[in-house]
Amino acid sequence: MKLGTKFIHAGAEPDPSTGAIMTPIYQTSTFVQAAPGDHKGFEYARSQNPTRFALEAALAGIENGKFGLAFSSGVAATDAVIKLLQPGDEVIAGADMYGGTYRLFSKVFARFGITFHYVDMQDAQNVAAVINDKTKLIWCETPTNPLMNIADIGALSALAKQHNLILVVDNTFASPYLQNPLDLGADIVMHSSTKYLGGHSDVIQGALVLNDQKLRDELYFIQKSCGAVPGPMDCFLVLRGIKTLHVRMQRHCENGREIAHFLRNHEAVERVYWCGFEDHPGYAVAQKQMRDFGGMMSFTLKDDSVENARRVLSSTHLFSLAESLGGVESLINHPASMTHASIPREERIKNGLTDSLIRLSVGIEDASDLIEDLRQAIG
Ligand SMILES: *Cc1c(COP(=O)(O)O)cnc(C)c1O
Repeated sequence: MKLGTKFIHAGAEPDPSTGAIMTPIYQTSTFVQAAPGDHKGFEYARSQNPTRFALEAALAGIENGKFGLAFSSGVAATDAVIKLLQPGDEVIAGADMYGGTYRLFSKVFARFGITFHYVDMQDAQNVAAVINDKTKLIWCETPTNPLMNIADIGALSALAKQHNLILVVDNTFASPYLQNPLDLGADIVMHSSTKYLGGHSDVIQGALVLNDQKLRDELYFIQKSCGAVPGPMDCFLVLRGIKTLHVRMQRHCENGREIAHFLRNHEAVERVYWCGFEDHPGYAVAQKQMRDFGGMMSFTLKDDSVENARRVLSSTHLFSLAESLGGVESLINHPASMTHASIPREERIKNGLTDSLIRLSVGIEDASDLIEDLRQAIG
């Protein structure tokens, strides 16, 4: 089945009680039993909810996995994965990744005796170099947020299999339209559904998709035991978002390509970080594992003072200054003070995330209007 058909039909069954073509919002906390233990498979909505189950089936379908699990946020999905581990275990994570993931690892789970190594995953050898007997899991983001670095999922998967590790890929930036990590050998795909899957900046939600039954059972146990489940209304919104993912992503990619080239040719711009440029260090790998290059990018200005970056950030009219990404509307963001402020400054700068870096989430408006907006803002 081709992508667009899958995004519309994955997991979609008419409602068994009425035939409703759209999954109803089962806004209920509990389900009536005929006699103790005699029920229809639904007991209590933290454990089972028909709207969430429909979404989880759709999530599995669109990431070519067997099982989907939905969480109340992206970080709740990440939290559930790390709870598979024990004190003493070690995790290898990317040096350049979403600030909230870094915060969860370094400020919360480090206190529970789990050790995290942060390495540049553009070269799988850097990962191989820190694997030891205690290593249990590799946490990979590709493309990375916000520097758009690319990791080779196939190479990391080979390492993971060799050392019996769980490879998790945060596929939020690419979305399943551009990349399917399970097909490339990952064990778990994680999403902040808040971004491209929801697509309309109106919901916070997270997802995991995987193939292994035992791992799925452990994660389902964590999901119901720890309780970070999304409500049925939010599940409905993500289900609806997924149905237009391919149409939106196609436009995100077209606009992204135009804007990346516009910025690169602008005399006041120093450097554009977008993985669709042939001279991007990860281009060959991106071309191998992605279908296109998406609408996320970052750039720096020749005048690289923080004041100049702040001036541009405050001068756009169509690009709204806000955290988050992946919605239909364009956003502009200052990672150093917004999305990545939880990473210590020296760490950030060591990894190339400077104080003057500007990140764009290119929306699906008309590219010419977006370019005009950036032109007047950069000045
Ligand atoms: C936003 C984001 C997350 C966290 O997801 P929430 O839904 O905000 O909890 C994780 N990874 C990436 C790449 C993100 O952009």
